[in-house]
Amino acid sequence: MSMSDWYEIARRVESLEDVPLERGLIADLQAAHAAQTGPGAGAIHFYTPTFKSFQTSEISGCGKNAWPAVSITAGDCKLQCDHCKAKILEPMIPARTPEDLWRVANEVIAEGARGMLLTGGSNHRNEVEYGPYYSTIRRIKDEFPDFRIALHTALVDDDIARCMEQSGIDAAMMDVIGAQETVTQVYHLRRRVEDFERSLEALVATRMKVVPHIVVGLHYGRLLGEWEALAMVRRHRPAALVLVVVMPFYAPAKRPFATPDAGAVGRFFFDARTALPGLPLLLGCARPPGTTKVQIDAYAVLAGLNGIAHPSDGTVELAARLGRRVRVTPACCSIVVGDEVMALDGAGGVEVDLETILADERARRGGTGLGRIPVVSEPATAAGGGR
Ligand code: SF4
Repeated sequence: MSMSDWYEIARRVESLEDVPLERGLIADLQAAHAAQTGPGAGAIHFYTPTFKSFQTSEISGCGKNAWPAVSITAGDCKLQCDHCKAKILEPMIPARTPEDLWRVANEVIAEGARGMLLTGGSNHRNEVEYGPYYSTIRRIKDEFPDFRIALHTALVDDDIARCMEQSGIDAAMMDVIGAQETVTQVYHLRRRVEDFERSLEALVATRMKVVPHIVVGLHYGRLLGEWEALAMVRRHRPAALVLVVVMPFYAPAKRPFATPDAGAVGRFFFDARTALPGLPLLLGCARPPGTTKVQIDAYAVLAGLNGIAHPSDGTVELAARLGRRVRVTPACCSIVVGDEVMALDGAGGVEVDLETILADERARRGGTGLGRIPVVSEPATAAGGGR
């Protein structure tokens, strides 16, 4: 909207004041922005548990239980990838047998879940062995047709993809890796990059909503196969693409991960946006913390991504200052994947304007519109309350 310099606009956001941003990169992103068209261009959806003004009774709490994650192998995984070591599975609800899955589904539905993310550890071929579970998944979908199931598929062939589809799974997610070195070294996997592409192809041939993920910086913190992964996604056109940035926490000491360079990640966002015009591009909640996260989030907004989970302070404000249409859903990570994957049409959340965002940021910093003067008493107490 505004013709002013985006770098200068970013500098006006108080939370970004001390955050180094690359002027040249931002100029490139601004220049490319004019070319972005199609439905949803210019709109951005944030998923954040901290946007207090929108903690309405309708969306109570952070929605953690709306999309529970369930693992059919509990915490077990044969692959032990260097960036994960199966840590991602640990907090999930275990369902080690089809009977357990039936019981877990009934329990979470009784607690109000709208769907679940179903996953599990891999075998040595990066396959999750769902075979014994398909009839139970079918039974869950027959009994509770509105209950959505998103499945982390891992690698599949045509037959397996069809089994998944026939069991009633709504959405299929898989990590797309574009460099053979990364498959071999990070995943310890004797499969070929082509197997990832063939899996993606098999999945998009079904009626399932396919939402691949690209883990940026997967090669020990460096970008390597990301562009090939983009090309694969482009060849097979899924429903949306989720980008996450590698979190090196779990890396073993002898094979450490560097923190990916935020500028390099920002340029990759730009390349993704350019390669996939009109495709919903979402930034998932995994990314390194600290200044890097703030920078990555700013570049995600500037590059024209369509959704951001858990934005850093200042990110929502930056989007509004750039004239983007901003929607906010107060939510945890799990609901992000669930909602974004299931409702890609951009519905949901509350539309907010810059004034509201600024008021919220002020409130979170401890002021109440009176600058930063701390408020000692709660308004309800101050009002007397009949005492
Ligand atoms: S296969 Fe998946 S769960 Fe297992 S270690 Fe690798 S990333 Fe983690």
